[in-house]
Amino acid sequence: MKAIKFITYSFLMISIAFIIRLVGYFITGNLALALESAHIVIDFIITIFILVTLRVISSEFSGRFSYGLFKLEDLISLSLAILVAFTGIEFLISGFLSRPSMALDSSLIQGLSVIPIALAAHYKLLAGKEINSPSLESDGRHTYTDFYEGLGVSAGLFLSYYFGPGFYYLSLIIAFLALMFTSYSIGRDSILSLLDLPKEKGVKNEIEKIVSSVDKVRKVKEVRLRWAGPVIFVELVVEMDPLLTIDDAHPVTEEIEKRVRKSVNGIYHVTVHVEPVKRKSFRVIIPSEGREEGSMMDQRLAKANYFAIVNIDEKISYEFIENPFREKDELAGLDFKDFLVQNGISDIICSNVGEITFGLMLSYGIYCWHSDPGTISEIIKKFINGELKKLQQPTRRSKAK
Ligand SMILES: [Zn+2]
Repeated sequence: MKAIKFITYSFLMISIAFIIRLVGYFITGNLALALESAHIVIDFIITIFILVTLRVISSEFSGRFSYGLFKLEDLISLSLAILVAFTGIEFLISGFLSRPSMALDSSLIQGLSVIPIALAAHYKLLAGKEINSPSLESDGRHTYTDFYEGLGVSAGLFLSYYFGPGFYYLSLIIAFLALMFTSYSIGRDSILSLLDLPKEKGVKNEIEKIVSSVDKVRKVKEVRLRWAGPVIFVELVVEMDPLLTIDDAHPVTEEIEKRVRKSVNGIYHVTVHVEPVKRKSFRVIIPSEGREEGSMMDQRLAKANYFAIVNIDEKISYEFIENPFREKDELAGLDFKDFLVQNGISDIICSNVGEITFGLMLSYGIYCWHSDPGTISEIIKKFINGELKKLQQPTRRSKAK
């Protein structure tokens, strides 16, 4: 595996830098070099810690938990950030308490040691990208900061040799600020992840766009994202046509999952919650015995005397018409269907509906509701209050011929 190769290289480089600094300290007795050696030891322990964590995360043990152990990585990153901040403070205090001894030699030794550190940072970043691990990548970024910080220390020692200790203290402050910035950038991401706050705002919009483009999705109501270490958990609420069956809707959810996974990196799991599109306006037909809101619903459907057509949106309006099919001996289901479609009917309320009519309604997206006997206005009231039952099958079967 490439990542292992990169990590081995980075360890090799770190060890070289450590030996240069430690030997330099024994030769010069300069405290800055001692601190820089100690810094390497801390970083080395951190990297080992990260690698162990990554091993645990990808283990079978981690797989036993529904959400994995990905947040362990964020926890490690956070500890790393705190450790870096403390190292910085300690470094600053010790630096100010000391005076540079053998400043020129120390400066050259320190300057030499930052070369393998830059290489180590480079390899860590490569390894982190290879296995898509944010903690290994932040570790690599940290090591890059160590390169600049090390360079700053070297420059400070060099300048202090010629111009006095003022430059030494200045370089200490620069090195300190670099460490604080590293601490902040590593800590920020891990805190966001641990608190389930969005790490990258753009991802949410991107996912929303992708899901909206999936056929049969009417509206993306909600996109919730949770980052955990290197992965993202996605929860979606989408609206689909209420007439879709589970059979129809399931392939749509699969398609959503497929597209989201394909276009965004690091998606670990996608949950899709399907809701029916909320309807806002209705045009309801009810078979009626008379032409009044107070007339009783006719128990028959296509043979009723009148039809009440009721518009429901912001307000309710009634119209009553004579049933054009009343005189026909044999009811032509297709004519009735045409009549409903032409009148823009969205729902039928009746007490009985036959198999043929029911099937036609279903295929034209017209809902059938059952109501017990009552007046037209009472029934409409129940309909608005959601008290009527939607018919899932005809109330009467066609007679066998
Ligand atoms: Zn460091």
